[in-house]
Amino acid sequence: MRCIAFIAVSLIGFALLSACPGRPAPADLVLLGGEVYTMDPGHPWANSVVITGNTITAVTDSAEEARAYVGPQTRVVHLEGAFVLPGFIDGHVHFNRAGALINDANLMTVADDAGLRAEMERVVAILDDGEWITGGLWGAYEQWALGAAEAGEGVADRWRPQRRTIDDIAADNPCLLCSYDYELYLANTAALRAAGLEAEPLPGMVLDAEGRPTGLIERGSPALERLRAAVAEKSHARLLDENRAALRRLAESGIVEVHDIAVPDQTARFVELQAGGELTCRVWLRPDLSRGEELRDRGMTMGLHPASGEPDAWLRYGALKGYVDGIMGTHGALFFEPYDDQPDNYGHFRRHTSDDPDYRNGNMEKLYGLLRTGYEAGFVANVHAIGTRGVALLLDTIERLRDETGEDLRGFRVIHAQVVRPQDFPRFRDLNVIAEVNPYHLSDDMRWMEERIGHERCRGAYAFRSLIDNGATLCIGSDWPGTSAAEYLVHPRYLIHAAVNRTTLDGTPEGGWFPEQRITIEEALRAYTISNAYAAFEDDVRGSLEPGKLADIAVCDLNLLRCDPSEILDMNVVMTIVDGRVIFEREENGRE
Ligand SMILES: [Zn+2]
Repeated sequence: MRCIAFIAVSLIGFALLSACPGRPAPADLVLLGGEVYTMDPGHPWANSVVITGNTITAVTDSAEEARAYVGPQTRVVHLEGAFVLPGFIDGHVHFNRAGALINDANLMTVADDAGLRAEMERVVAILDDGEWITGGLWGAYEQWALGAAEAGEGVADRWRPQRRTIDDIAADNPCLLCSYDYELYLANTAALRAAGLEAEPLPGMVLDAEGRPTGLIERGSPALERLRAAVAEKSHARLLDENRAALRRLAESGIVEVHDIAVPDQTARFVELQAGGELTCRVWLRPDLSRGEELRDRGMTMGLHPASGEPDAWLRYGALKGYVDGIMGTHGALFFEPYDDQPDNYGHFRRHTSDDPDYRNGNMEKLYGLLRTGYEAGFVANVHAIGTRGVALLLDTIERLRDETGEDLRGFRVIHAQVVRPQDFPRFRDLNVIAEVNPYHLSDDMRWMEERIGHERCRGAYAFRSLIDNGATLCIGSDWPGTSAAEYLVHPRYLIHAAVNRTTLDGTPEGGWFPEQRITIEEALRAYTISNAYAAFEDDVRGSLEPGKLADIAVCDLNLLRCDPSEILDMNVVMTIVDGRVIFEREENGRE
């Protein structure tokens, strides 16, 4: 205590502090007085976290203990009881596409003129004059609200936007916007001029009573073809800006790492952002499963940086991403029994599991070969499997790899694992296979799941409780930014809410969809932190708050472990720390 009082009045500070006997070296950052959940089973709750450089140096039970690390250069953050946990790791994103939903038009929730104008104003403010505005997907959520039975029937009388609605806002930005089903497009006057269509209309343009273009363009028409040819490709600078917007969104969401479905041009942008000191989220790249041989020939393997070929804690190759079957939304997921509403359809294979152009016949030998080649090149595989048969075939193939290599496998994942047969649940544990799930998809799919596969099969759908109870490691991913029909939100509160409450954001159905499959908030947080670190082979250095681990931390304004599940959606992230660096903080945070 005498030591602290002395420093408070000392102007020489640092030198004297170092000389003070029995004191630890001063830290760079001290998070003081929070409700700290560590994910360390030996020391689950703490009060303060001490960080030096990029490393957690102490996790203390009292603020007093943590104050011993405060020197004159130390930044102290007074948490005032805020909830602190290991930073969220998102186990599944498509980063490449995410920024376009922020910096370009996103009309999924829009189905009227006012909404369209508001979104155009937002986007015009982001872009430079002359840049094209594309994207849109208007009406997606209106269609969503119609539910399964009416979907597709309301098409005739749906909202039809006109170019004059946006012309004054986007006078200097040509726009080509689409409806959620790509049946209709909207071009503003600047776009029609750029394509030479204003004075000389082509077939496919909807005209008004006076024969002038309304701006509406029909799918598959010569007019649309002309417009598409006129759309300027996004510049490298604009794509980098989209990346920056996506990184900001991740930082605001408390996300410290993403497991990305990698595409080569995005990987190059990550390298560039990192070189410029702008990468604020760790990235575990998952290249396509077919790339095992090529990556091996380039000397690449898991953990290595795509440009330097050296180990890197920020940007590195992870697992290879494969596909067994299609998706539920298109009746493409593979099942042992046909779909209830399509009695001849059992779903279909994908290019990693079939040689057919239409993927009707499976070739699991092909998947096995790809898994084996990748494995011998040092890559595990994370493979998309959604229907009961898709999941079972994948587990069979992983089992064969285990048996033929004679090795204990680790890190293989069933991505989505959406519908699982009762007998397959224990196989996740037996094969040490991770279930990488996307809880938010529930709120989209629950509308029509029973209609498509019936009540009995739905018992094993999004069956997070059964997976955990059968000993599977559960990892959570968002699948951000989503499909043309739904945006998969990236903020962890939405995914935790879906996993714990099993309802849509507005709480339907009451009590939750198959509520016996709910998991606890603690289980969801575990799947979001230490389990995702384990799934990337890095739980020894990240994923929990323990001395010696990398300082990746999220601070929230609501203690998720002491709140009612109905409050989860109220949670905001107030600070995000990656590698010891504060990359996001809300203004009102206390400082010293
Ligand atoms: Zn995905």
